[in-house]
Amino acid sequence: DSTPAHVNLDDNDKLLGGLLTSGFDEESCISRIQSHLYRKASPHKPSPYLISKLRNYEEIHTRCGPNTRAYHRSMTMIEHSKNKGAATLCKYLIWTPANGLGNQMINLAATFLYAILTDRVLLVEFGKDKHGLFCEPFLNSTWILPRKSPFWNEKHIETYQILLEKDRASNSTEDLPSVLFINLQHTRSDPEKYFHCGHSQDLLQKIPLLTLQSDQYFVPSLFMNPFFNQEVTKMFPEKETVFHHLGRYLFHPSNEAWKLISDYYEAHLAKADKQIGLQIRVFSPVSTPQQAVMDLVLSCTLKHKILPQVDLQTSAGKNQTTVKAVLVASLYREYGDNLKRMYRKNPTLSGEVIKVYQPSHEEHQKYNDNKHNMKAWIDMYLLSLSDELVTTSLSTFGYVAQGLGNLKPWLLYKLVNNETHFPPCERDFSSEPCYHFPPKHYCNGEPLKDIVSSFPYLRPCKDFRVGLKMV
Ligand code: GDP
Repeated sequence: DSTPAHVNLDDNDKLLGGLLTSGFDEESCISRIQSHLYRKASPHKPSPYLISKLRNYEEIHTRCGPNTRAYHRSMTMIEHSKNKGAATLCKYLIWTPANGLGNQMINLAATFLYAILTDRVLLVEFGKDKHGLFCEPFLNSTWILPRKSPFWNEKHIETYQILLEKDRASNSTEDLPSVLFINLQHTRSDPEKYFHCGHSQDLLQKIPLLTLQSDQYFVPSLFMNPFFNQEVTKMFPEKETVFHHLGRYLFHPSNEAWKLISDYYEAHLAKADKQIGLQIRVFSPVSTPQQAVMDLVLSCTLKHKILPQVDLQTSAGKNQTTVKAVLVASLYREYGDNLKRMYRKNPTLSGEVIKVYQPSHEEHQKYNDNKHNMKAWIDMYLLSLSDELVTTSLSTFGYVAQGLGNLKPWLLYKLVNNETHFPPCERDFSSEPCYHFPPKHYCNGEPLKDIVSSFPYLRPCKDFRVGLKMV
């Protein structure tokens, strides 16, 4: 046994193998100490290097975070030298939201990794819609950008795109600003952003405050940068575990969220022999008939024996022994209701008892709505506790669940019309989120052709061939 005598095994489980730091007030964030009781132990241990980088980050955040002298001195200097550039004690990275909660969470994890790699303090611009969803992730500090900060929702600052243009024109980096807005959100017409390139990073490194807006999981682009690559490879010897580790490090349900999650789990899911998560996301509800979606879900789950066939010959149950609980996450109640009806009317051929639960059905996506986001977070978290997970292709909501739970999901094909798909779903090769819109050019401007031979650790995503993820 190589466990040092002073390491309490129970603490090691609680702290997820050293991923989390000790010293938190346990009552302030119960999920942090209880999550390991609900989730299977991860087979992926955080590397000693990742652990040391996290402890180092925490030290910087404690020293430079809001309400510290270093914070006030640095921020004042930045504010007074907006367009002139300044060398400050601490450097910052402000995260701003774009798109739905799933997009925001995968992007926030990527942004945190970028903050670690560039020795910046991560501050998040959380509006009311995200109040009370998550615990504070960093010991003795806050990651929330103070509402009175002059950089809250500050869009009248120089942009990264203009900086690149100026740099190309003059090749001079003398008049760098102190504050820069980087928009990495995907739009169809965008020019290449070259964010993965050493030259861009050299420029950005000199700017004390960056504000980043994106809905992308841009972690693979950090691997594409030779300097960052060395670091991230050391931090993540298993490349497909980046979100799994960083997601479990950052996203702890607040006490309010945890009560709802753990109560629901205990009441409905805990006693089942097996838990199945079904995430049914319909991107174009008007043009996608519900029956087509239902057919796809059943075709996938029955074919792969995730759910059993019903016995249409009889309504009498056999000697039913095992219970499978199915957690349906969807905006629409019809999917849960259909499944419930199907398994209530007839017994299953396998003899299993199927219980179907759907915690919410919001009908449509809502923006800037705290209660709505809470329901989304609860659904994502409960899905992540499944033994087997079926998700919808392209949905970042599903990515969060699979990443937190270390689950390789069955990906349902994205239905646009009433089309029939064979196969209806496919098993993903890892739990990492997909980077939907990666760079299309090498840093010298040439089009990026054979990605896999240039970057052997990247693969096209199964659910979106243009997208990339690490293997
Ligand atoms: P994506 O659009 O599927 O990639 O996921 P996002 O999370 O970025 O955006 C979808 C948003 O719609 C979610 O954040 C929720 O607000 C809402 N939503 C979609 N599907 C569900 C669901 O199954 N349950 C709940 N509670 N909300 C959902």
